Amino acid sequence: MGVEMAVRCRKCGCGFSARFGGGFIFHLLHCDTCGKDRSISFEEIGEAHLRYLKGLKGPYCVATSEHDRFVRENYPGEPLPEEDYHKVIDSIAGECGCGGHFRMDAKPRCPECRSEEFEEVEDGMICHYD
Ligand SMILES: [Zn+2]
Ligand SMILES: [Zn+2]
Repeated sequence: MGVEMAVRCRKCGCGFSARFGGGFIFHLLHCDTCGKDRSISFEEIGEAHLRYLKGLKGPYCVATSEHDRFVRENYPGEPLPEEDYHKVIDSIAGECGCGGHFRMDAKPRCPECRSEEFEEVEDGMICHYD
């Protein structure tokens, strides 16, 4: 579900690799100031993730559908809307060493100039990770 690709900054031309999306068992967040990434496993999120699954109409993803259905049918807690779920993840992720904050909706940034504007490198490597 996640993808890592080679990109080039539109502002300073610096090349770097940007990761997007999470995997089957974790979310990928970025710092809202420097763009550094941090992954949070569903296990770390704990109960809030189960409550989020409970509120979903279908499985979170095919690979975990058995588990997700089990949670939906058996978990006794209240469902958690996506917006609140993201707030919980943001607070678990905490602060970045640069003073910024890791957030679900923050994007990768250029490590040199911190610009959010970058483009895919044509012959760049794309790597899919779980
Ligand atoms: Zn740059
Ligand atoms: Zn940071």
